[in-house]
Amino acid sequence: MKVTDAEIVISAVSKKQYPNEGVPEIALAGRSNVGKSSFINKLINRKSLARTSSKPGKTQTLNFYKINGSFYFVDVPGYGYAMVSKKEREKWGKMMEEYFQTRETLKAVLLITDVRHEPTRDDVQMYDFLKYYELPVIVIATKLDKVPKNKRAQHIKRTKQTLQIDSNDVVIPFSSETGEGKDEAWALIRSFLK
Ligand code: GDP
Repeated sequence: MKVTDAEIVISAVSKKQYPNEGVPEIALAGRSNVGKSSFINKLINRKSLARTSSKPGKTQTLNFYKINGSFYFVDVPGYGYAMVSKKEREKWGKMMEEYFQTRETLKAVLLITDVRHEPTRDDVQMYDFLKYYELPVIVIATKLDKVPKNKRAQHIKRTKQTLQIDSNDVVIPFSSETGEGKDEAWALIRSFLK
């Protein structure tokens, strides 16, 4: 997909701030520092539209990016090590529930994982959470450039096994450095926007 226009429309903290024009949405979830911002920026050919929103102490928001005026990427706050306090974790959980449970325009979720490592318990929980809401999930196994070519298939297999991935869901090996996986990611995203 050729992205000609990408703009942040709103950083929402609650439901009443979500855009309401009814255009389709693709959400992006992932552990803090996994490479989610780099993934978004690579996909839309921008250096820094999406910023890391996962630094400890930063306000957690759902960031709605309108792409080509026709759909939204919704950047979900990162989970994992940045969530220092129990209170912060609870707030994050409520926000996720509010969004994933009721959002009718949400077509699919991109779950970003680090292909170098086995998915963490947080990754597995996030995947299970999304499946609980019966959402289609596309796993983006990023940082592929950091895994030697002859080990890649093994790493992808481990990602699928640890997540116990549904037969309808797809894992896309990806690198924000080299752009590998970009066309495949766009093709799948497009198929969910129809
Ligand atoms: P976020 O917190 O999930 O948004 O993570 P960022 O996109 O800010 O990335 C975290 C770090 O990983 C940064 O230093 C990026 O440069 C690096 N990074 C992200 N994606 C890749 C990738 O595909 N390959 C490599 N080598 N580094 C990456």
